[in-house]
Amino acid sequence: MRTKITLSCTECKQRNYNTTKEKKNHPDRMETKKYCPRCKRHTLHRETK
Ligand SMILES: [Zn+2]
Repeated sequence: MRTKITLSCTECKQRNYNTTKEKKNHPDRMETKKYCPRCKRHTLHRETK
């Protein structure tokens, strides 16, 4: 059971990544460090709907 999620930068709120996750493994909002093209550096990205 994989769910589609969008990862958005927590600093500029830009949505940068579409991915899927295993809901069983991550019942809560996922947070990952990813490169944000708008901030031009790695920032924390959080799952949005
Ligand atoms: Zn950003």
